[in-house]
Amino acid sequence: MAPRVAVIGGGLSGLTAAYQLALDLPDARITVLEASDTPGGALHTVDFPSGPMELGAEAFIGRRPEASELVAELGLTDALRHPGPLGPAILTGGRLMSMPVGTVMGLPSDVTALTGVLTPPETDVAARERDTPLEWEPGGDVSLGRLVAERFGDAVVSRLVDPMLGGVYAAPSSGLGLRQVVPGLAEVLDRGAPTLTDAVGQLVRDRVPGPVFATLDGGYRTLVASLIEASGARVRTQAACTAIHREPSGYALTVTGERGSWVEDADLVVVAVPVPHAAPLLAAAGGVDDAVTGLTGIRTASSAVVAMEVDRGLDLPGLSGVLVATDEPVPFKAMTFTSRKWPHLDTRPGHLVRVSFGRLDDDEVLLADDIALARMAESALAGVCGSAPRILHSRVRRWEDSLAEIGPAHADRIADVRAGLADRLPGVELVGGATEGVGVPACIGSARAAARRLAAGWQD
Ligand SMILES: Cc1cc2nc3c(=O)[nH]c(=O)nc-3n(C[C@H](O)[C@H](O)[C@H](O)COP(=O)(O)OP(=O)(O)OC[C@H]3O[C@@H](n4cnc5c(N)ncnc54)[C@H](O)[C@@H]3O)c2cc1C
Repeated sequence: MAPRVAVIGGGLSGLTAAYQLALDLPDARITVLEASDTPGGALHTVDFPSGPMELGAEAFIGRRPEASELVAELGLTDALRHPGPLGPAILTGGRLMSMPVGTVMGLPSDVTALTGVLTPPETDVAARERDTPLEWEPGGDVSLGRLVAERFGDAVVSRLVDPMLGGVYAAPSSGLGLRQVVPGLAEVLDRGAPTLTDAVGQLVRDRVPGPVFATLDGGYRTLVASLIEASGARVRTQAACTAIHREPSGYALTVTGERGSWVEDADLVVVAVPVPHAAPLLAAAGGVDDAVTGLTGIRTASSAVVAMEVDRGLDLPGLSGVLVATDEPVPFKAMTFTSRKWPHLDTRPGHLVRVSFGRLDDDEVLLADDIALARMAESALAGVCGSAPRILHSRVRRWEDSLAEIGPAHADRIADVRAGLADRLPGVELVGGATEGVGVPACIGSARAAARRLAAGWQD
Protein backbone atom coordinates (compact mmCIF):
# COMPACT_ATOMS: atom_id res chain seq x y z
CA MET A 1 0.00 0.00 0.00
CA ALA A 2 1.29 3.49 -0.83
CA PRO A 3 1.65 5.47 2.40
CA ARG A 4 0.07 8.87 2.85
CA VAL A 5 2.70 11.20 4.29
CA ALA A 6 1.99 14.59 5.86
CA VAL A 7 4.90 16.93 6.50
CA ILE A 8 3.98 19.79 8.83
CA GLY A 9 6.18 22.79 8.03
CA GLY A 10 7.62 23.63 4.63
CA GLY A 11 11.01 24.95 5.78
CA LEU A 12 14.32 23.30 4.95
CA SER A 13 13.71 20.44 7.41
CA GLY A 14 10.24 19.60 6.14
CA LEU A 15 11.22 19.81 2.48
CA THR A 16 14.34 17.71 3.03
CA ALA A 17 12.29 15.08 4.86
CA ALA A 18 9.81 15.07 1.96
CA TYR A 19 12.67 14.63 -0.51
CA GLN A 20 14.21 11.73 1.45
CA LEU A 21 10.83 10.03 1.88
CA ALA A 22 10.24 10.28 -1.87
CA LEU A 23 13.57 8.52 -2.42
CA ASP A 24 12.93 5.77 0.12
CA LEU A 25 9.19 5.29 -0.47
CA PRO A 26 8.72 6.12 -4.17
CA ASP A 27 4.98 5.34 -4.05
CA ALA A 28 4.30 7.63 -1.10
CA ARG A 29 1.78 10.43 -1.54
CA ILE A 30 3.47 13.32 0.21
CA THR A 31 1.75 16.53 1.26
CA VAL A 32 3.68 19.41 2.80
CA LEU A 33 1.55 21.74 4.93
CA GLU A 34 3.05 25.21 5.21
CA ALA A 35 1.36 27.87 7.33
CA SER A 36 2.82 30.89 5.55
CA ASP A 37 2.46 32.12 1.96
CA THR A 38 5.72 30.59 0.76
CA PRO A 39 7.75 27.46 1.45
CA GLY A 40 11.34 27.74 2.68
CA GLY A 41 10.92 28.98 6.26
CA ALA A 42 14.19 30.62 7.35
CA LEU A 43 15.52 30.09 3.81
CA HIS A 44 13.94 33.20 2.39
CA THR A 45 15.30 34.83 -0.75
CA VAL A 46 13.54 37.96 -1.98
CA ASP A 47 13.94 40.05 -5.11
CA PHE A 48 15.71 43.37 -4.76
CA PRO A 49 15.57 45.45 -7.96
CA SER A 50 19.22 44.48 -8.55
CA GLY A 51 18.75 40.73 -7.93
CA PRO A 52 18.17 38.13 -5.20
CA MET A 53 18.83 38.94 -1.53
CA GLU A 54 18.61 36.67 1.51
CA LEU A 55 16.46 37.76 4.43
CA GLY A 56 17.10 34.57 6.45
CA ALA A 57 20.04 32.17 6.28
CA GLU A 58 22.71 33.26 3.81
CA ALA A 59 25.26 30.45 3.87
CA PHE A 60 26.15 27.01 5.19
CA ILE A 61 29.25 25.30 6.49
CA GLY A 62 30.49 23.57 3.36
CA ARG A 63 32.93 21.38 5.27
CA ARG A 64 30.12 19.47 6.94
CA PRO A 65 28.90 16.86 4.48
CA GLU A 66 25.11 17.18 4.84
CA ALA A 67 24.44 20.34 2.81
CA SER A 68 27.20 19.78 0.25
CA GLU A 69 25.97 16.24 -0.47
CA LEU A 70 22.36 17.37 -0.84
CA VAL A 71 23.40 20.20 -3.17
CA ALA A 72 25.32 17.69 -5.30
CA GLU A 73 22.42 15.21 -5.38
CA LEU A 74 20.09 17.95 -6.56
CA GLY A 75 22.49 18.88 -9.37
CA LEU A 76 23.26 22.31 -7.90
CA THR A 77 27.03 21.99 -7.50
CA ASP A 78 27.66 24.48 -10.32
CA ALA A 79 25.68 27.07 -8.37
CA LEU A 80 27.96 26.81 -5.30
CA ARG A 81 29.74 30.04 -4.41
CA HIS A 82 32.31 30.76 -1.69
CA PRO A 83 33.24 33.89 0.27
CA GLY A 84 36.21 36.02 -0.71
CA PRO A 85 39.25 36.55 1.52
CA LEU A 86 37.87 39.36 3.73
CA GLY A 87 37.28 38.62 7.40
CA PRO A 88 35.07 40.31 10.00
CA ALA A 89 35.96 42.87 12.65
CA ILE A 90 34.68 43.06 16.21
CA LEU A 91 33.05 46.23 17.44
CA THR A 92 34.32 46.68 20.97
CA GLY A 93 34.96 49.80 23.03
CA GLY A 94 33.61 51.89 20.14
CA ARG A 95 36.35 50.65 17.79
CA LEU A 96 36.54 48.06 15.03
CA MET A 97 39.20 45.47 15.84
CA SER A 98 40.21 42.78 13.33
CA MET A 99 39.14 39.29 14.35
CA PRO A 100 42.30 37.88 15.98
CA VAL A 101 44.08 35.15 14.04
CA GLY A 102 44.37 31.63 15.42
CA THR A 103 40.91 31.52 16.97
CA VAL A 104 38.19 28.89 16.68
CA MET A 105 34.68 30.24 17.30
CA GLY A 106 36.38 33.06 19.20
CA LEU A 107 38.45 30.77 21.44
CA PRO A 108 42.14 31.71 21.26
CA SER A 109 45.12 29.46 20.63
CA ASP A 110 47.51 32.35 21.27
CA VAL A 111 46.43 35.09 23.65
CA THR A 112 49.04 37.53 22.35
CA ALA A 113 46.83 37.81 19.23
CA LEU A 114 44.05 39.27 21.41
CA THR A 115 45.88 42.56 22.07
CA GLY A 116 43.51 45.43 21.45
CA VAL A 117 40.42 43.28 21.91
CA LEU A 118 41.37 42.57 25.55
CA THR A 119 42.98 44.99 28.01
CA PRO A 120 46.45 44.00 29.33
CA PRO A 121 44.99 42.70 32.65
CA GLU A 122 42.36 40.70 30.72
CA THR A 123 45.10 39.29 28.50
CA ASP A 124 47.03 38.20 31.63
CA VAL A 125 43.96 36.34 32.90
CA ALA A 126 43.48 34.63 29.53
CA ALA A 127 47.19 33.72 29.34
CA ARG A 128 46.96 31.69 32.56
CA GLU A 129 44.63 29.19 30.89
CA ARG A 130 47.41 27.23 29.27
CA ASP A 131 49.17 26.73 32.61
CA THR A 132 46.08 25.34 34.35
CA PRO A 133 45.29 21.70 33.54
CA LEU A 134 41.69 21.18 32.44
CA GLU A 135 39.50 18.53 34.01
CA TRP A 136 37.51 17.06 31.12
CA GLU A 137 35.32 14.00 31.13
CA PRO A 138 35.64 12.24 27.75
CA GLY A 139 32.24 12.09 26.02
CA GLY A 140 30.80 14.70 28.39
CA ASP A 141 29.52 18.18 27.67
CA VAL A 142 29.47 21.50 29.48
CA SER A 143 28.25 25.05 28.95
CA LEU A 144 30.63 26.56 26.41
CA GLY A 145 30.31 30.10 27.78
CA ARG A 146 30.81 29.11 31.40
CA LEU A 147 33.88 27.03 30.63
CA VAL A 148 35.45 29.80 28.54
CA ALA A 149 34.66 32.44 31.19
CA GLU A 150 36.15 30.23 33.90
CA ARG A 151 39.28 29.47 31.89
CA PHE A 152 39.95 32.63 29.83
CA GLY A 153 37.85 35.27 31.64
CA ASP A 154 34.53 36.98 30.90
CA ALA A 155 36.00 39.33 28.30
CA VAL A 156 36.82 36.45 25.92
CA VAL A 157 33.17 35.42 26.10
CA SER A 158 31.63 38.86 25.59
CA ARG A 159 34.09 40.15 22.98
CA LEU A 160 34.97 37.03 21.01
CA VAL A 161 32.89 33.91 21.60
CA ASP A 162 29.38 35.41 21.94
CA PRO A 163 29.78 37.79 18.98
CA MET A 164 31.01 34.88 16.81
CA LEU A 165 28.09 32.67 17.80
CA GLY A 166 25.48 35.43 17.79
CA GLY A 167 24.74 35.18 14.08
CA VAL A 168 23.96 31.48 14.06
CA TYR A 169 22.67 30.74 17.55
CA ALA A 170 21.23 34.05 18.75
CA ALA A 171 21.80 32.70 22.26
CA PRO A 172 24.65 33.46 24.66
CA SER A 173 27.30 30.76 24.81
CA SER A 174 26.54 30.24 28.51
CA GLY A 175 23.39 28.37 27.45
CA LEU A 176 25.01 26.38 24.64
CA GLY A 177 26.74 23.02 24.87
CA LEU A 178 30.40 22.93 23.82
CA ARG A 179 29.95 19.63 21.97
CA GLN A 180 27.10 20.97 19.86
CA VAL A 181 28.74 24.27 18.96
CA VAL A 182 32.36 23.20 18.50
CA PRO A 183 32.25 19.41 18.02
CA GLY A 184 35.87 19.33 16.82
CA LEU A 185 37.02 20.91 20.08
CA ALA A 186 35.09 18.34 22.12
CA GLU A 187 36.80 15.56 20.17
CA VAL A 188 40.29 16.98 20.78
CA LEU A 189 39.47 17.31 24.49
CA ASP A 190 38.13 13.73 24.50
CA ARG A 191 41.52 12.65 23.15
CA GLY A 192 43.24 14.24 26.13
CA ALA A 193 44.26 17.80 25.20
CA PRO A 194 45.48 19.26 28.53
CA THR A 195 44.03 22.79 28.17
CA LEU A 196 41.64 24.75 25.95
CA THR A 197 44.58 26.72 24.53
CA ASP A 198 46.28 23.50 23.50
CA ALA A 199 43.06 22.02 22.07
CA VAL A 200 42.30 25.13 20.00
CA GLY A 201 45.94 25.16 18.83
CA GLN A 202 45.54 21.59 17.55
CA LEU A 203 42.39 22.56 15.63
CA VAL A 204 44.11 25.59 14.11
CA ARG A 205 47.14 23.52 13.03
CA ASP A 206 44.91 20.79 11.52
CA ARG A 207 42.79 23.27 9.56
CA VAL A 208 42.33 22.26 5.95
CA PRO A 209 43.00 25.28 3.71
CA GLY A 210 40.10 26.51 1.61
CA PRO A 211 36.72 28.09 2.19
CA VAL A 212 34.65 27.01 5.17
CA PHE A 213 31.34 28.49 4.03
CA ALA A 214 29.33 28.20 0.84
CA THR A 215 26.14 29.59 -0.61
CA LEU A 216 24.17 29.23 -3.83
CA ASP A 217 24.14 31.57 -6.79
CA GLY A 218 20.56 32.76 -7.14
CA GLY A 219 20.05 32.34 -3.40
CA TYR A 220 18.57 29.66 -1.18
CA ARG A 221 15.35 29.77 -3.18
CA THR A 222 17.19 27.58 -5.71
CA LEU A 223 17.56 24.85 -3.08
CA VAL A 224 13.94 25.24 -1.94
CA ALA A 225 12.62 24.92 -5.51
CA SER A 226 14.86 21.93 -6.26
CA LEU A 227 13.77 20.08 -3.12
CA ILE A 228 10.11 20.60 -3.94
CA GLU A 229 10.59 19.43 -7.50
CA ALA A 230 12.69 16.39 -6.59
CA SER A 231 10.30 15.31 -3.83
CA GLY A 232 7.25 15.47 -6.08
CA ALA A 233 5.38 16.56 -2.95
CA ARG A 234 2.17 18.53 -3.04
CA VAL A 235 3.00 21.73 -1.16
CA ARG A 236 0.02 23.51 0.34
CA THR A 237 0.79 27.04 1.53
CA GLN A 238 -1.46 28.97 3.93
CA ALA A 239 -2.14 25.59 5.50
CA ALA A 240 -1.47 25.66 9.25
CA CYS A 241 -1.75 22.36 11.07
CA THR A 242 -3.46 23.00 14.41
CA ALA A 243 -3.74 19.47 15.83
CA ILE A 244 -2.65 15.88 15.26
CA HIS A 245 -5.14 13.17 16.28
CA ARG A 246 -4.41 9.50 16.50
CA GLU A 247 -6.92 7.35 14.55
CA PRO A 248 -7.25 3.56 14.36
CA SER A 249 -5.76 3.65 10.87
CA GLY A 250 -3.14 6.39 11.23
CA TYR A 251 -3.40 10.10 11.95
CA ALA A 252 -5.89 12.87 11.20
CA LEU A 253 -4.43 16.36 11.02
CA THR A 254 -6.61 19.41 11.50
CA VAL A 255 -5.48 22.07 9.05
CA THR A 256 -6.59 25.69 8.86
CA GLY A 257 -6.19 27.91 5.84
CA GLU A 258 -7.71 31.01 4.33
CA ARG A 259 -10.69 29.03 3.08
CA GLY A 260 -11.49 27.34 6.38
CA SER A 261 -10.43 24.09 8.05
CA TRP A 262 -10.06 20.58 6.73
CA VAL A 263 -8.67 17.22 7.80
CA GLU A 264 -5.62 15.67 6.22
CA ASP A 265 -5.30 11.90 6.77
CA ALA A 266 -1.83 10.40 6.99
CA ASP A 267 -0.05 7.16 7.79
CA LEU A 268 3.26 8.89 8.47
CA VAL A 269 3.75 12.39 9.89
CA VAL A 270 6.84 14.59 9.98
CA VAL A 271 6.64 17.51 12.42
CA ALA A 272 9.04 20.10 11.00
CA VAL A 273 8.05 23.30 12.79
CA PRO A 274 9.90 25.31 15.47
CA VAL A 275 9.52 24.00 19.04
CA PRO A 276 6.86 26.46 20.24
CA HIS A 277 4.64 25.26 17.37
CA ALA A 278 5.53 21.56 17.65
CA ALA A 279 4.72 21.16 21.34
CA PRO A 280 0.97 21.97 21.08
CA LEU A 281 0.59 19.76 17.99
CA LEU A 282 2.05 16.78 19.81
CA ALA A 283 0.11 17.62 22.98
CA ALA A 284 -3.13 17.40 20.96
CA ALA A 285 -2.18 13.87 19.89
CA GLY A 286 -2.11 12.88 23.56
CA GLY A 287 -0.08 10.34 25.50
CA VAL A 288 3.23 12.10 25.05
CA ASP A 289 3.21 14.47 28.03
CA ASP A 290 6.86 13.84 28.89
CA ALA A 291 7.94 14.55 25.31
CA VAL A 292 5.89 17.75 25.27
CA THR A 293 7.37 18.84 28.60
CA GLY A 294 10.84 18.10 27.25
CA LEU A 295 10.19 20.24 24.21
CA THR A 296 8.69 23.17 26.07
CA GLY A 297 11.88 23.31 28.16
CA ILE A 298 13.86 24.30 25.06
CA ARG A 299 14.16 28.07 24.88
CA THR A 300 14.07 29.86 21.54
CA ALA A 301 15.39 33.22 20.38
CA SER A 302 13.78 35.71 18.04
CA SER A 303 15.66 38.01 15.73
CA ALA A 304 15.19 40.45 12.87
CA VAL A 305 17.18 41.15 9.73
CA VAL A 306 17.27 44.47 7.89
CA ALA A 307 18.59 43.90 4.37
CA MET A 308 19.65 46.95 2.40
CA GLU A 309 21.18 47.96 -0.88
CA VAL A 310 23.04 51.25 -0.44
CA ASP A 311 24.67 53.64 -2.87
CA ARG A 312 28.31 52.81 -3.60
CA GLY A 313 29.23 56.35 -2.61
CA LEU A 314 29.37 54.94 0.94
CA ASP A 315 32.91 54.05 1.99
CA LEU A 316 32.29 50.50 3.23
CA PRO A 317 35.24 49.09 5.23
CA GLY A 318 37.25 46.28 3.61
CA LEU A 319 35.66 43.66 5.84
CA SER A 320 33.15 40.84 5.45
CA GLY A 321 31.18 42.37 8.29
CA VAL A 322 31.10 43.47 11.90
CA LEU A 323 30.43 41.31 14.95
CA VAL A 324 29.36 43.17 18.06
CA ALA A 325 30.74 42.52 21.56
CA THR A 326 27.82 41.80 23.87
CA ASP A 327 28.91 44.57 26.26
CA GLU A 328 28.88 47.16 23.46
CA PRO A 329 26.07 49.75 23.85
CA VAL A 330 24.61 49.45 20.34
CA PRO A 331 21.23 47.92 19.40
CA PHE A 332 22.42 45.59 16.61
CA LYS A 333 24.30 42.31 17.05
CA ALA A 334 25.93 41.85 13.65
CA MET A 335 26.34 43.53 10.30
CA THR A 336 27.26 41.66 7.12
CA PHE A 337 28.75 43.46 4.14
CA THR A 338 27.10 40.89 1.91
CA SER A 339 28.48 42.09 -1.41
CA ARG A 340 32.00 42.44 0.05
CA LYS A 341 31.84 38.99 1.62
CA TRP A 342 30.54 37.20 -1.50
CA PRO A 343 32.42 38.24 -4.66
CA HIS A 344 29.60 36.95 -6.92
CA LEU A 345 27.30 39.59 -5.36
CA ASP A 346 29.79 42.44 -5.71
CA THR A 347 28.60 43.12 -9.25
CA ARG A 348 25.39 44.80 -8.05
CA PRO A 349 24.89 48.55 -8.56
CA GLY A 350 24.91 49.16 -4.79
CA HIS A 351 26.57 47.59 -1.73
CA LEU A 352 24.43 44.84 -0.17
CA VAL A 353 24.35 44.99 3.65
CA ARG A 354 22.46 43.05 6.32
CA VAL A 355 22.04 44.21 9.90
CA SER A 356 20.78 41.72 12.52
CA PHE A 357 19.01 42.44 15.78
CA GLY A 358 17.94 40.37 18.78
CA ARG A 359 19.55 37.86 21.09
CA LEU A 360 18.03 35.46 23.58
CA ASP A 361 17.22 37.39 26.79
CA ASP A 362 18.18 40.63 25.03
CA ASP A 363 15.48 41.26 22.46
CA GLU A 364 13.73 44.43 23.61
CA VAL A 365 14.94 46.03 20.41
CA LEU A 366 12.49 43.79 18.52
CA LEU A 367 9.59 45.74 20.04
CA ALA A 368 10.48 48.53 17.61
CA ASP A 369 8.34 48.62 14.48
CA ASP A 370 9.78 47.92 11.04
CA ILE A 371 10.38 51.57 10.20
CA ALA A 372 12.26 52.11 13.46
CA LEU A 373 14.32 48.95 12.91
CA ALA A 374 15.22 50.07 9.39
CA ARG A 375 16.31 53.47 10.79
CA MET A 376 18.41 51.77 13.47
CA ALA A 377 20.09 49.67 10.79
CA GLU A 378 20.77 52.77 8.72
CA SER A 379 22.30 54.67 11.63
CA ALA A 380 24.31 51.60 12.68
CA LEU A 381 25.76 51.49 9.18
CA ALA A 382 26.45 55.23 9.30
CA GLY A 383 28.22 54.76 12.64
CA VAL A 384 30.45 52.00 11.27
CA CYS A 385 31.25 53.80 8.00
CA GLY A 386 31.53 57.34 9.36
CA SER A 387 28.98 58.81 6.93
CA ALA A 388 25.29 58.40 6.19
CA PRO A 389 24.34 55.79 3.58
CA ARG A 390 21.95 56.55 0.74
CA ILE A 391 19.47 53.68 0.84
CA LEU A 392 18.48 52.33 -2.58
CA HIS A 393 16.30 49.52 -1.29
CA SER A 394 15.55 47.97 2.10
CA ARG A 395 13.50 45.11 3.59
CA VAL A 396 12.84 44.09 7.20
CA ARG A 397 12.14 40.49 8.14
CA ARG A 398 11.43 39.16 11.63
CA TRP A 399 12.19 35.62 12.74
CA GLU A 400 10.16 34.68 15.79
CA ASP A 401 11.29 31.80 18.00
CA SER A 402 13.32 30.51 15.11
CA LEU A 403 16.60 29.63 16.83
CA ALA A 404 16.67 27.06 19.62
CA GLU A 405 19.09 27.16 22.54
CA ILE A 406 21.01 23.89 22.32
CA GLY A 407 22.29 23.40 25.86
CA PRO A 408 24.69 20.76 27.21
CA ALA A 409 21.88 18.32 28.11
CA HIS A 410 20.09 18.79 24.79
CA ALA A 411 21.03 15.50 23.12
CA ASP A 412 19.69 13.50 26.09
CA ARG A 413 16.51 15.54 26.13
CA ILE A 414 15.90 14.93 22.41
CA ALA A 415 16.65 11.22 22.81
CA ASP A 416 13.92 11.08 25.50
CA VAL A 417 11.49 13.01 23.29
CA ARG A 418 12.13 10.66 20.38
CA ALA A 419 11.75 7.57 22.57
CA GLY A 420 8.41 8.92 23.83
CA LEU A 421 7.17 9.55 20.29
CA ALA A 422 8.31 6.15 19.01
CA ASP A 423 6.47 4.47 21.87
CA ARG A 424 3.20 6.40 21.83
CA LEU A 425 2.95 7.92 18.35
CA PRO A 426 4.51 5.41 15.94
CA GLY A 427 4.98 6.88 12.48
CA VAL A 428 5.45 10.42 13.81
CA GLU A 429 8.91 12.02 13.66
CA LEU A 430 10.13 15.38 14.91
CA VAL A 431 12.83 17.21 12.93
CA GLY A 432 14.28 20.72 12.72
CA GLY A 433 16.73 23.05 14.38
CA ALA A 434 15.64 22.14 17.90
CA THR A 435 16.51 18.47 17.45
CA GLU A 436 20.01 17.72 16.18
CA GLY A 437 21.15 21.34 16.10
CA VAL A 438 20.68 24.77 14.61
CA GLY A 439 21.86 25.52 11.08
CA VAL A 440 21.39 24.30 7.55
CA PRO A 441 23.62 21.18 7.64
CA ALA A 442 22.22 20.00 11.00
CA CYS A 443 18.62 20.45 9.81
CA ILE A 444 19.33 18.49 6.62
CA GLY A 445 20.99 15.69 8.59
CA SER A 446 18.16 15.53 11.12
CA ALA A 447 15.46 15.49 8.44
CA ARG A 448 17.10 12.81 6.31
CA ALA A 449 17.73 10.54 9.29
CA ALA A 450 14.14 10.90 10.51
CA ALA A 451 12.74 10.24 7.03
CA ARG A 452 14.88 7.11 6.74
CA ARG A 453 13.58 5.86 10.10
CA LEU A 454 9.99 6.45 8.99
CA ALA A 455 10.55 4.67 5.67
CA ALA A 456 12.24 1.71 7.36
CA GLY A 457 9.40 1.46 9.90
CA TRP A 458 6.79 1.51 7.14
CA GLN A 459 8.56 -1.16 5.10
CA ASP A 460 8.84 -3.51 8.12
C1 LIG B 1 17.97 35.14 10.38
C2 LIG B 1 18.55 33.75 10.30
C3 LIG B 1 19.79 33.57 9.73
C4 LIG B 1 20.33 32.29 9.67
N1 LIG B 1 21.53 32.12 9.06
C5 LIG B 1 22.01 30.87 8.89
C6 LIG B 1 23.16 30.66 8.09
O1 LIG B 1 23.72 31.60 7.48
N2 LIG B 1 23.64 29.39 7.98
C7 LIG B 1 23.01 28.33 8.58
O2 LIG B 1 23.48 27.19 8.45
N3 LIG B 1 21.87 28.50 9.29
C8 LIG B 1 21.37 29.74 9.44
N4 LIG B 1 20.20 29.92 10.13
C9 LIG B 1 19.52 28.74 10.69
C10 LIG B 1 18.78 27.95 9.60
O3 LIG B 1 18.24 28.82 8.65
C11 LIG B 1 17.66 27.16 10.24
O4 LIG B 1 18.23 26.32 11.25
C12 LIG B 1 16.88 26.30 9.26
O5 LIG B 1 16.60 26.95 8.05
C13 LIG B 1 15.61 25.86 9.96
O6 LIG B 1 14.80 25.13 9.07
P1 LIG B 1 13.48 24.41 9.60
O7 LIG B 1 12.78 23.88 8.43
O8 LIG B 1 13.82 23.45 10.69
O9 LIG B 1 12.62 25.55 10.32
P2 LIG B 1 11.95 26.82 9.67
O10 LIG B 1 12.80 27.39 8.62
O11 LIG B 1 11.57 27.68 10.83
O12 LIG B 1 10.64 26.27 8.97
C14 LIG B 1 9.51 25.89 9.69
C15 LIG B 1 8.30 26.15 8.80
O13 LIG B 1 7.15 25.67 9.48
C16 LIG B 1 6.09 26.57 9.23
N5 LIG B 1 5.10 26.35 10.29
C17 LIG B 1 5.15 26.75 11.59
N6 LIG B 1 4.06 26.31 12.24
C18 LIG B 1 3.32 25.61 11.35
C19 LIG B 1 2.10 24.90 11.44
N7 LIG B 1 1.43 24.81 12.59
N8 LIG B 1 1.61 24.29 10.32
C20 LIG B 1 2.29 24.37 9.14
N9 LIG B 1 3.46 25.04 9.00
C21 LIG B 1 3.97 25.64 10.10
C22 LIG B 1 6.74 27.93 9.23
O14 LIG B 1 5.95 28.87 8.55
C23 LIG B 1 8.06 27.63 8.53
O15 LIG B 1 7.97 27.82 7.13
C24 LIG B 1 19.63 31.18 10.21
C25 LIG B 1 18.37 31.37 10.79
C26 LIG B 1 17.82 32.64 10.83
C27 LIG B 1 16.46 32.84 11.43
